[in-house]
Amino acid sequence: MNYKPITNDDIVYFKQVVGETNVFVDDKIHEDYTHDEMTEYGKFTPEVVIKAHQTLEVSKIMKYCHDNYIPVTPRGAGTGLCGGCVPLLKGVVLSVAEMNKIIEIDEKTLVAVCEPGVLLMELAAEVNTHDLLYAPDPGEKSATIGGNVMTNAGGMRAVKYGVTRDYVRGMEVVLPNGEIIELGGKIAKNSSGYSIKDLMIGSEGTLGIVTKLYLKLLAKPKKMISLLIPFNDLKSCLEIVPSILRLPNQPTTLEFCEKEVIEDATEYLGKQFPNKDYNAYLIVSYSGNTKTDIEQMYEDTCQLCLDKGSIDVYISDTDERQESIWNARGAFLEAIKNSTTTMDECDVVVDIDKIYPFLLHVKGLAKTYQVRIRNFGHAGDGNLHCYVCKDDMNDERWKVVVKECMQSMYDKARELNGFTSGEHGIGHAKKEFLHEKLGDTQIELMRGIKKVFDPHNILNPLKVI
Ligand SMILES: Cc1cc2nc3c(=O)[nH]c(=O)nc-3n(C[C@H](O)[C@H](O)[C@H](O)COP(=O)(O)OP(=O)(O)OC[C@H]3O[C@@H](n4cnc5c(N)ncnc54)[C@H](O)[C@@H]3O)c2cc1C
Repeated sequence: MNYKPITNDDIVYFKQVVGETNVFVDDKIHEDYTHDEMTEYGKFTPEVVIKAHQTLEVSKIMKYCHDNYIPVTPRGAGTGLCGGCVPLLKGVVLSVAEMNKIIEIDEKTLVAVCEPGVLLMELAAEVNTHDLLYAPDPGEKSATIGGNVMTNAGGMRAVKYGVTRDYVRGMEVVLPNGEIIELGGKIAKNSSGYSIKDLMIGSEGTLGIVTKLYLKLLAKPKKMISLLIPFNDLKSCLEIVPSILRLPNQPTTLEFCEKEVIEDATEYLGKQFPNKDYNAYLIVSYSGNTKTDIEQMYEDTCQLCLDKGSIDVYISDTDERQESIWNARGAFLEAIKNSTTTMDECDVVVDIDKIYPFLLHVKGLAKTYQVRIRNFGHAGDGNLHCYVCKDDMNDERWKVVVKECMQSMYDKARELNGFTSGEHGIGHAKKEFLHEKLGDTQIELMRGIKKVFDPHNILNPLKVI
């Protein structure tokens, strides 16, 4: 595809649409717009950054770029981890971060209506004032809701409540040619033809730009209690997970981590963790309306774990104790990043009974390549986060080690019938691994879909497929 470089006339048009102060070129482009949270995957400077504030502005910009073959990269908060919002082919970065109004919390239909730039933490806080819950809880609270939907973000409560997809009732979308469509709405179910809404979710800004969202809310449980369960070894820690999930009460979160990750987090935060003497930990929480209800819920779990090799079960039932656990858990990624010179991430998802075999393979790689690999993840849904750390390795060796380790991890995940990404998405960094997993037929189907939505291939080109 031959894209048109941006000219002065284009800039004049963009300024007419969104106003002088919302168009940025040359040295007015902030460095943040050249990357997401994984600077490791490269920095790419757009020709222009445009901040939109209304659907109609997005529509006009898209129509113009479609007609003129100008690539457009949509951007939320830029907290992505796979290079999804970076402008590989320059052109326009279209930020919807300032489309950030919560339009309505509808207590009759239990739906929140909001613009895509609302931050996860802002939505959670607003919904909370209505005694309601927006259930998805991805780790990065300053991500936008639009970004969450476009990556189908997961998070720690997915084991009980599901992922972002399960909470999107409807959306308004601007198509690559500028047309505005409504998909779904507040309605609770829908069997009316192909679900284009579901195709949009997780499409990483390659099919359309989301400008409004209808999100399902739940009644808010009043209390949560967390358990920290230490094990001498990772095998017993992970092999107990399916048995916990078979118990009558579903945990709200079921996470695992190793001692070293906790050490990284406590050092990074400068705060204590209730216990870090053992090799592996489960962090399990239960929610309900009274302390007594919850105690009944977790009783079986405590007994099961103690019977099957846990050293103890630490019950955290005060806000302070829970905060010390969850603040540390929330900082794992940042802490690992902070502990090394550079790193690469693998976010595969495997069956819950394959987590240990996968990690055993990862540990083998660490030994073979003499490289530090840190692991933690969502034990309850099989989504693992493995970080290969460069530390003081020289650049030449690092290139080989990281390439071979990543390839081997994705190969192993495929062998175990796992998938390339559990929640962070594909962006441009994980494309080859997606292709290896899905094969030509599925990738061609996806390319066909992309062509129908975006015949000029202007919307986030070179991403995902
Ligand atoms: C410390 C940390 C912890 C994290 N924890 C989790 C976690 O637990 N679970 C998880 O799933 N992710 C997690 N993430 C990853 C990240 O926060 C998510 O991928 C998030 O959904 C990205 O949202 P964003 O607003 O930053 O989107 P961006 O990074 O700006 O964009 C992400 C993708 O969505 C597209 N996009 C954004 N907005 C729109 C829109 N309105 N219309 C169309 N396309 C759009 C972009 O083009 C890009 O492809 C974490 C990241 C960090 C740094």
